[in-house]
Amino acid sequence: MQQVDVAVVGAGVIGLAVALELRSRGLSVAVADKSDPVREASWAAGGMLAVDDPENPAPLWPLSAWSRELYPEFLARIEQQSALSVPIRTHRALQGSHEGSSSLEALNTLKEIGLSPEGHAWALQVEGSLDPRDLGAALQAACANTDVSIRSHCAIDTLARDGAGWRLQSGSGDILAYRVVLCTGSWAGPGNLPVFPRKGQMMAVEMDAPLDTVVRTPEIYLIPRGDGRVVIGATIEDAGYDKTVHSADIAALKARAVKLFPPAAQAPIVETWAGLRPATHDGMPLIGAIEEGLYAATGHYRNGIQLAAATARAIGLQLSGEPLPVDMQAYAVNRTFGPVFAQPS
Ligand SMILES: Cc1cc2nc3c(=O)[nH]c(=O)nc-3n(C[C@H](O)[C@H](O)[C@H](O)COP(=O)(O)OP(=O)(O)OC[C@H]3O[C@@H](n4cnc5c(N)ncnc54)[C@H](O)[C@@H]3O)c2cc1C
Repeated sequence: MQQVDVAVVGAGVIGLAVALELRSRGLSVAVADKSDPVREASWAAGGMLAVDDPENPAPLWPLSAWSRELYPEFLARIEQQSALSVPIRTHRALQGSHEGSSSLEALNTLKEIGLSPEGHAWALQVEGSLDPRDLGAALQAACANTDVSIRSHCAIDTLARDGAGWRLQSGSGDILAYRVVLCTGSWAGPGNLPVFPRKGQMMAVEMDAPLDTVVRTPEIYLIPRGDGRVVIGATIEDAGYDKTVHSADIAALKARAVKLFPPAAQAPIVETWAGLRPATHDGMPLIGAIEEGLYAATGHYRNGIQLAAATARAIGLQLSGEPLPVDMQAYAVNRTFGPVFAQPS
């Protein structure tokens, strides 16, 4: 039986970022995943670090802004520990909204890259994006190089108090840990957390036309990877745990992208996929203590890549009993859920 200071359940970007943060604080850490690491939402994501997306609920902003501040150091440390690069692939975003008016710099950028401004007011935002698959690979390598063990195909079915710690039970052997962090994404998991999946279908196209800017409206986004590949997404669906990709939905997404960026019409689709965003009833993540020695870090919905840096640091500080620079009440696990925030359709 494996015995560690901390067991992390779920090896998505959140679980691995948390594991590395705790390891850097001198703790022994094991991560268990029911399938392979970083193959769920964290693999499917667009990778926009969209702190100022007007679709984000307002109470998310303090956490997002803290994460933006931590991100350069977060990435640098992962790159150093993994010896892999996680390049920032775009550095600005054109944000279209249904309200307000366009800024002059946004209109000039639209013209420069050949976008059709129709029907939206535009703003130019300083915002990065990365390929979450780069980040996932680097996080796994960083764990391997820092003695964080990742147990694949190890579903944690139950969690029970065992002396001063916890026993995590799985079909492939138990883990004993003093403390446990549940990072189970869209799955309620052994903590029976109040999360649910919201499906997103996406595609990647291969484009000749140079595009160096994320283009995002409430209906569609285009994320250039800087190598000719452009990711176009995404649907938002309540479809349970189904991840089927439907050609009609992909065609509808592509048609919307073409309306915004006509050169996309000629771009062949090179990949399609779907993922499950871990949603909560008020649109805010669940970060912090559930009870003595048991923590959650999940429910990051559309922003888990962007929020990974602050989430990991918040869990690290909480486990060490240190103060946090951000009021975490809006993200507390035992909060009373307010009304559901309007979600984009
Ligand atoms: C289409 C789409 C586009 C997105 N675009 C963006 C974006 O542009 N920017 C952004 O910041 N975010 C984006 N997101 C959101 C982001 O992907 C998620 O918020 C983030 O990946 C959540 O990470 P996670 O580690 O919590 O969840 P996951 O990556 O889903 O990982 C959870 C892990 O827990 C494991 N698990 C569950 N239950 C158990 C158990 N009982 N035992 C063991 N293991 C278990 C699962 O197997 C899984 O590997 C997008 C998501 C989707 C689907």
